[in-house]
Amino acid sequence: MTDTLGLTCYRCGATATFPDSKRCDCGEPLWFDTESEDFGWPESVGREGDGPGRTSGPWRYADLLPVEHREGVGSAAGDTPLVRANGLDDYAGCRLWLKDESENPTGSFKDRGSAVGVAWAAAAGREWVGTVSHGNMAISVSAHAAGTDAECVVLVPDDISTERLTAIAQYGPEVLRIAGDYGRLYYDTLETDSPVEFVNSDTPLRVAGQKTTALEICEAFARRGAVADRAAPDAIVVPTSSGGHASASWKALRELEAAGLLGADSLPRLYFVQAAACDPIAQAYREGADEVTATTADETVAYSIANSDPPSGTRALAAARETGGAVLSVTDDEILDAKARLAEGAGFCVEPASATSLAGIRKLTESGDLAADDEAVAVLTGTGFRELGDAGTDPETVDLDDLPERLRALTE
Ligand SMILES: *Cc1c(COP(=O)(O)O)cnc(C)c1O
Ligand SMILES: [Zn+2]
Repeated sequence: MTDTLGLTCYRCGATATFPDSKRCDCGEPLWFDTESEDFGWPESVGREGDGPGRTSGPWRYADLLPVEHREGVGSAAGDTPLVRANGLDDYAGCRLWLKDESENPTGSFKDRGSAVGVAWAAAAGREWVGTVSHGNMAISVSAHAAGTDAECVVLVPDDISTERLTAIAQYGPEVLRIAGDYGRLYYDTLETDSPVEFVNSDTPLRVAGQKTTALEICEAFARRGAVADRAAPDAIVVPTSSGGHASASWKALRELEAAGLLGADSLPRLYFVQAAACDPIAQAYREGADEVTATTADETVAYSIANSDPPSGTRALAAARETGGAVLSVTDDEILDAKARLAEGAGFCVEPASATSLAGIRKLTESGDLAADDEAVAVLTGTGFRELGDAGTDPETVDLDDLPERLRALTE
């Protein structure tokens, strides 16, 4: 067994221990205590490990994580590229950086949280892990369970598409369709007497792993700080649904601040972007509310971020306000435009949910929240290769003998 770990509520300060608790009596999610005051950036730059081709993945920040497991697919999570995308500066309206989460083993940042969650379950001798998802998280938990000895159960809604089932099933989990209230199911699975360790959207283990996105961004800027004037980005912009990744980003900044690695004057602002068709957190932000309440959800192209009752919505709201950021929403047209610009203008294929980050940045520069010389990081949360949809192209056919002439005509 692993030791019990301390948990604290960000809102009321109540403490508890893991795995006995996952949410506070006040209703808000709990997160792990870390001794971040002693944390320093790892000494090596780039990939480390004990052999060629080995990466440390999320374990680069093992000092800030509840578990460490340097092998298997979990070590391939995280450690993703952060690239400057000058070509899209005009479109974005500021100095744009892209954090490419599509490079994770299953194509989304969910692998960071799954790596930590499944590793903890294995270390604690839990035979079963599980999740409540029919999208990227289901695929990710299944893959990470396959990378350890853990058995895995994925609870999907009754009306899941065959395409999605196939993507999940390839890793060999037990898949159960659930007839009933899928929203209630999320909380039901967090009961602590469950024989399955559920690593859902905003459970403490998942949030711990997903801190590493912001840790990597801040480390990259800190190392660049030696040669450039800014040692942190001005803004980190995250597509947001449950609020798990958003609050993980906030936790990362708080830990770096406690470690003295981010000054109060260099703290990045956190901006969270939702799809206008389903934007409960943005709505609460606009209304100046203290809590996020459930809304209705309309159809949106950004299907991965359409949670109408986000379990960490209120925590994400606090994160945006505390860091001087905001929560905003963008329309499907704006999302699809940004998605096309990322592909045509920068060479990145993302799913629509991920393009909300760039669409959001464009809005923030239009409104003056971001300045032209601000450095903003758009987190590209997931790959667009999984569900390409209809690109709407019908390429011309050229006879092989006519090709030289056609190429000349094309390039003239
Ligand atoms: C899960 C997911 C999100 C939303 O993350 P939350 O932690 O639920 O807020 C955004 N983009 C993609 C691609 C996702 O899979
Ligand atoms: Zn509380």
